[in-house]
Amino acid sequence: MSKIKMKNPIVEMDGDEMTRVLWKQIKDILLLPFVDLKTEYYDLGLKARDDTDDQVTLDAADAIKKYKVGVKCATITPNAERVAEYKLKKMWKSPNGTIRAILDGTVFREPVIVDGIKPIVQGWKEPIIIARHAYGDIYKDVEFDVKSGEKVSVVISGNGSDVKTEIMSFKESGVLLTMHNLDGSIKSFAENCFAFALEKKKDLWFGTKDTISKTYDGRFKDIFNRVYNEKYKDKFEQAGIVYFYGLIDDVVARVMRSSGGFIWACKNYDGDVMSDMVSTVFGSLAMMTSVLVSENGFEYEAAHGTVTRHYYKYLRGETTSTNPVATIFAWTGALKKIGELDGIKELTAFAESLEAATCATIESGVMTNDLVSLFKKDGITAKGVSGETFMKAVAERLKAR
Ligand code: NAP
Ligand code: MG
Repeated sequence: MSKIKMKNPIVEMDGDEMTRVLWKQIKDILLLPFVDLKTEYYDLGLKARDDTDDQVTLDAADAIKKYKVGVKCATITPNAERVAEYKLKKMWKSPNGTIRAILDGTVFREPVIVDGIKPIVQGWKEPIIIARHAYGDIYKDVEFDVKSGEKVSVVISGNGSDVKTEIMSFKESGVLLTMHNLDGSIKSFAENCFAFALEKKKDLWFGTKDTISKTYDGRFKDIFNRVYNEKYKDKFEQAGIVYFYGLIDDVVARVMRSSGGFIWACKNYDGDVMSDMVSTVFGSLAMMTSVLVSENGFEYEAAHGTVTRHYYKYLRGETTSTNPVATIFAWTGALKKIGELDGIKELTAFAESLEAATCATIESGVMTNDLVSLFKKDGITAKGVSGETFMKAVAERLKAR
């Protein structure tokens, strides 16, 4: 069988610990036998980030801007313990944060659905994709301790005269929070969501609390409405999909009653919380895909971390059963996208076959241990295997296609 040829490279970002082990296995067992893989390789492993003073992370983000498609392995975000463990020069920032800040976009997270793993919410028949705004609000806030008797006002200056507004006169001690967002960021969030909904041919839902937060949340509502009416209304109607806006509490209630199958745009905090709820309902973080969509390019990754506990077992020579599905789907997402951009149908078809073979392997009863207790299918007993054995079973299925 001849291997599928690529035109442009994918930006490949290697990572840390157990996911770095999986990364190599995925390439060796599931990709290289089938595809003449063309990547531009960046080692985002903690040691390499430290050696290059994190320049490698900046270079990788720039490469995504250039080549448009990247795939990223999970990486360690160092804390004090990691600084000691790896003898780091400093506590480097989260590579995901650095890359997101450079690309500025929206993170879409979608559960991988397999027959046999039923969502805890029985009505949900199809995946719910969370679209999380990745800028501002409490993630870039300034917080204060305020003492009894203190007064707080806000001064907006810069355009000639200062405008001072009294916020609160504290009769007892308390706390204060200030936060902001930017029209440009909200607009690109809206654009990303509408474009993604069109690409997926799925409805888009969005909710805020604009009845209470008339200016702040109201701005999100207005910008979404404007972008929709100016640019997407006709395209949505042609595609037979709907944009639905509601109050966030009403949207949450509707989500729970729904049968799924739509994209749920969430403000930053709502997306943080709701993506954990959605992934739990559908099984596990290892069964969740994640993609950063921006005007600068697409970055595919797994939603989970480097699975440290498994890595130390692996280093002791023990067999581990680490679920590779999210990382496999990061690769298939990137391959499908570059196949689409470069017009290589076989590449896109291969990535789709690999996804189907991965799901079919689980459906046949072969899976990593994290899924065994969740799996229930008549006539099939779930068998827990190592990550490597699972991938070999997927490769057999792929070859038999
Ligand atoms: P984690 O790596 O996601 O693992 C937490 C636990 O979840 C694991 O111990 C394991 O449970 C389970 N788990 C996660 N992924 C799994 C998989 N593929 N297969 C089977 N089980 C899986 O999170 P963490 O332990 O909080 O963080 C570890 C490191 O990852 C940290 O250094 C953190 O900075 C980094 N991190 C990176 C990213 C990223 O790059 N995207 C995201 C989050 C965290 P059991 O131990 O019970 O089996
Ligand atoms: Mg969260």
